[in-house]
Amino acid sequence: MTTKHTGSTNPLLKKLTCGAAAAALLVGVSGTPASATGNGPDYGGNETINTSILHTYDSMVAELRKQDAKQPALELEVIGQSVKGRDLFVAKYLSNPANPTVLFLTQQHGNEQLTTEGALEVIKHLGTGRMKNTLKNINILIVPMLNPDGAMGDVNFDLSDYIASGGRHLTRYNANNIDINRDHVAKTQPEIKALHNNVLSTYDVDYMIDLHHQGTRSAVDGKLVSGSILYPTTPDVKPEVLEGSKRLGSIVYQNVDATGWGHLGKYVGGTANTIARNGIAAEYDISTLLFEMRGMSDHFNPGSVLGQKSNGYLRQQTILTLESVIKAISDGSVDTADTSFWDSLPEQEYLPGKANDE
Ligand SMILES: [Zn+2]
Repeated sequence: MTTKHTGSTNPLLKKLTCGAAAAALLVGVSGTPASATGNGPDYGGNETINTSILHTYDSMVAELRKQDAKQPALELEVIGQSVKGRDLFVAKYLSNPANPTVLFLTQQHGNEQLTTEGALEVIKHLGTGRMKNTLKNINILIVPMLNPDGAMGDVNFDLSDYIASGGRHLTRYNANNIDINRDHVAKTQPEIKALHNNVLSTYDVDYMIDLHHQGTRSAVDGKLVSGSILYPTTPDVKPEVLEGSKRLGSIVYQNVDATGWGHLGKYVGGTANTIARNGIAAEYDISTLLFEMRGMSDHFNPGSVLGQKSNGYLRQQTILTLESVIKAISDGSVDTADTSFWDSLPEQEYLPGKANDE
């Protein structure tokens, strides 16, 4: 896709993604016992929420540089700097300009880190021999941790009421206290300028997955989800671009929901172009998919965080998502993916539970 056009905005439509509904703290509601998907336990006040097991920004950069030195196919590029001056990266596997190109974006919201942990694993896997043939037929761009200041808690506002231990807090916002996933039209923040100027405007991207985490109590069919997905819902998206998003979602659904621990719903999100799922689809004709995984790494609201015992399957969910999409684009099966599941995929709902469940 080469056509570039500017999507229009509708300022009247302002809804929230990333578990806004689940951010409401329920107190004193008794009943439903915790039944976390994949047996991942919830935070219960007696389980540690410890951020020290996560990559720091510096250890992430060290890993990226290590893989860059090791993998001939990988090119690491600095696309800009955060508010606090941290370098922002794109990891590139560009084999042939004629290939379809996919972009994976993680951690626009700094407290949603398992997506970055999974993306780093995928980068390691891409350096192994078994991925060599796959890489011939696809171009891959990975932008990990777009909000490193929020991820490191290096921000110009107070985080002392955040609950995680481990020497640092992680927050949704960037250092300027801005939600950068509401900045994709105005593009006022340096992280968003870097993404748009040096990735989205530079490469001919066909598909994009924007990876997030939401609260812990979203469910479909009465069961907590491991994550929920959604295509662009802006009126400015072209039908063929939307169709590509639905095919992309089909690949993710087929591969994740089929596992024992995967349980996906349809995310309920707004139509504003200020968010990546909508704005990037409208502006660049990129088929976007939002993936909101369960539970955040840190928050002031206990109901939004998950204990570290859930980290394994959520990180695995990212790896499975990225690798199955890479494979489906590389072998062309994404072109014929069945999108009919979207018609019956239930929208996620808030599942009440004891506050202590979380
Ligand atoms: Zn998010």
